[in-house]
Amino acid sequence: MDKIQRLHEILTISRRVVIVTHTKPDADALGSSLGLCGFLTQTGHSCTVITPSDYPGFLRWMPGSKAVHVVNRNQPDSQIRAEQLIGEAEIIFCLDFSNLKRIETLEQPVRIAKAIKVMVDHHLEPESFSDFDFWDVTSASTASLVLKLIEDLSGKEYIGKDIANCLYAGLMTDTGGFRHSNTGAHEFNVAARLIQYGAEPSKVASSVYDSNSLNRLQLTGYVLCNKLTVLPEFHTAYMCITRAELDRFKAQTGDTEGLVNYGLSIEGVKLAVLMHDRDGEVKMSLRSTGAFSVNEMSRKHFKGGGHRNAAGGTSAESLEDTLKKLISILPEYRDELNKD
Ligand code: 5GP
Ligand code: MN
Repeated sequence: MDKIQRLHEILTISRRVVIVTHTKPDADALGSSLGLCGFLTQTGHSCTVITPSDYPGFLRWMPGSKAVHVVNRNQPDSQIRAEQLIGEAEIIFCLDFSNLKRIETLEQPVRIAKAIKVMVDHHLEPESFSDFDFWDVTSASTASLVLKLIEDLSGKEYIGKDIANCLYAGLMTDTGGFRHSNTGAHEFNVAARLIQYGAEPSKVASSVYDSNSLNRLQLTGYVLCNKLTVLPEFHTAYMCITRAELDRFKAQTGDTEGLVNYGLSIEGVKLAVLMHDRDGEVKMSLRSTGAFSVNEMSRKHFKGGGHRNAAGGTSAESLEDTLKKLISILPEYRDELNKD
């Protein structure tokens, strides 16, 4: 029996299901989770989405988002409840991550949980922890994998507008609005299927991209004017944002998302890095063009990873020292960054 048939069989009776996604979930993480949750709920399962942290305000339109169980570091009860849900679950779906450290305080509870674990993801170098995996590094988004999973589980008839919009948001954002190099005929085919199921491209795009707060736009303007530095020798652009600067613009979760792409949009730039203070550590976002792998760079130097052209990482050092480290490692990549 193949894994779809086995999973289908497991889901023939009503199950207690938990869906977990990575910390600071983006549209693919939350959209694929809510899309799958919508399908499982409609097919008679009791399903809860848990996020290890809050999520950006521009995702609050997603149907089902109000029911998400959000773990809040300042509210220990939220962690206790998450552990209870995870402990009681019969099936745990892990979406848009394949390394358990990406779910922070939920890592241990998920690791020791007795539930059947199903991983659905498209990031490089996965950890082996699941009973079933639907892992495909060639997939542009986890949402595309979730759509295929639902279709393969014979669930087409359950995919309505709400599920389709959530999944479409994941595909749209992980392809950078169908502009990144991971966009091909297959992605447009997935988009077309989602539209046939009821997705509303223009509504989703405006919900995600046209819902800036004035503070967020002003933070963007400030960073572009004052914090963007280009190192032509290394075809690199970087931005460092301090806690005080984030506070000055009352930055909310998600307000720095996408900023790093401005660095990459500069002519000749092949590597862009954004660093900002977050929860006592420095969070890094790395982007590249062409063959240069920010996944490898982040894995080697910043305890992170992701995709070849889009990766994240963290540093326990100060912002200043993290920048020094970045600058000190660039010569290692000089040749690669100077290739055409
Ligand atoms: P972002 O820079 O937008 O936070 O993340 C870029 C990509 O790298 C996303 O696919 C994200 O899931 C992944 N990513 C972000 N932070 C980390 C990290 O600390 N570790 C790993 N393995 N992947 C990350
Ligand atoms: Mn993704």
